[in-house]
Amino acid sequence: MLNATDTIAGSSINAHPGVYVLGCYDTRITFYSQQVRALELAHALFHEHRLPANARVAVIGGGAAGLTLAAALALQGGVGVQLFEKAHHLLPLQGDSQRRRLDPHIYDWPNPDADHERAELPLLDWRSGSAIDVRRAVLREFSEIQMAAEDRLSVRTRHLITAITPQAGRFIVSFEREADGGAREVASQEFDIVVLAIGFGIENPFALPGTDTPSYWRDAGVPGAEIAGNARPTFLVSGNGDGGLIDLIAAASSTFRHDDIVRGIAQRQGVQALRGPLLAIDAQALAAESMGQGFDFVTAYENAIGVEVENLGLVDQMRGQMRVGVQLFFSNARERTSIDQNIPLKSSRCLPLEEGLRTAGR
Ligand SMILES: Cc1cc2nc3c(=O)[nH]c(=O)nc-3n(C[C@H](O)[C@H](O)[C@H](O)COP(=O)(O)OP(=O)(O)OC[C@H]3O[C@@H](n4cnc5c(N)ncnc54)[C@H](O)[C@@H]3O)c2cc1C
Repeated sequence: MLNATDTIAGSSINAHPGVYVLGCYDTRITFYSQQVRALELAHALFHEHRLPANARVAVIGGGAAGLTLAAALALQGGVGVQLFEKAHHLLPLQGDSQRRRLDPHIYDWPNPDADHERAELPLLDWRSGSAIDVRRAVLREFSEIQMAAEDRLSVRTRHLITAITPQAGRFIVSFEREADGGAREVASQEFDIVVLAIGFGIENPFALPGTDTPSYWRDAGVPGAEIAGNARPTFLVSGNGDGGLIDLIAAASSTFRHDDIVRGIAQRQGVQALRGPLLAIDAQALAAESMGQGFDFVTAYENAIGVEVENLGLVDQMRGQMRVGVQLFFSNARERTSIDQNIPLKSSRCLPLEEGLRTAGR
């Protein structure tokens, strides 16, 4: 369990006391976990007396982390907070997507209550839903806090922070401001404390040369619509992070609904029996990683829970949702493999990547 001192130590930059980093380089970054980190940092800054009287605090980044920190600091009082965001709106990453979903605790699955719908945060709380609904709920409460905090909390959208320069124990924050009409102005302002809540960035929109790839967070980024009417739709999903795995399912499904998939698995009767073996596999994978070794999740899952997954009806459930004629090819940086080695979707026509690409070219 971390205490306030640990939180300060974990987010400080040793060479620059007074500058804090909010989770940008951590693992397990989710909307919810970043809000929790922000609340912990807000508490720790007060508890550890890191905020001089009437401190001027610059929070850089208007995502989940920056918004939550700015609101929490302003509500505690005694400080003036300015929240800088380079985009035109706060929470720009989540945008207005109706098909991408946020579930506050689902990353804890298969632990109990992972499908609990409420974030249960003391401020800027939200419940499971589409990205647009979550964004609206959080922004609604943020504006209420902003009104209550009056001039202790100001928001500066369209401000790109370009430099932070230490000067006599304070910081000069330089920015480019986009004025109405698009003109850019350069300016700077002095602060006592600076918090970097700049996230870990977004996907490369031009990962495939000559192709504009929509972001995960845009509805256009959900695989599917573009192949409507194609009798033999073929997808290559590259990357096995959570986004890649979700899009693998989206590509495979005739009607993809993220919430149905989450509920269909997390709330399936008897699924908790998989918890022990799944957590044991996680522990083995972490141990392998700490020794610099790779870990074959696919084989481990197949051996430990393959039969149980079939017996629970999860395979049939996915099979019933398959897109007719779909061919899926799944690759990641370390290995190339066909989808049926990863999750047992046996009704799909799955070929190893190399063979699949040859076939697709015929
Ligand atoms: C493809 C993808 C899929 C994801 N899927 C999920 C998911 O399903 N569930 C989930 O919970 N999380 C998911 N995440 C993680 C997601 O990043 C976090 O949930 C959440 O957005 C983190 O909030 P944050 O405030 O730390 O960072 P961000 O949301 O990235 O916010 C950082 C903000 O800082 C701003 N900024 C950066 N640099 C500057 C600068 N120099 N000046 C001014 N402003 C600046 C950015 O514009 C941005 O608005 C996903 C991330 C990606 C990229």
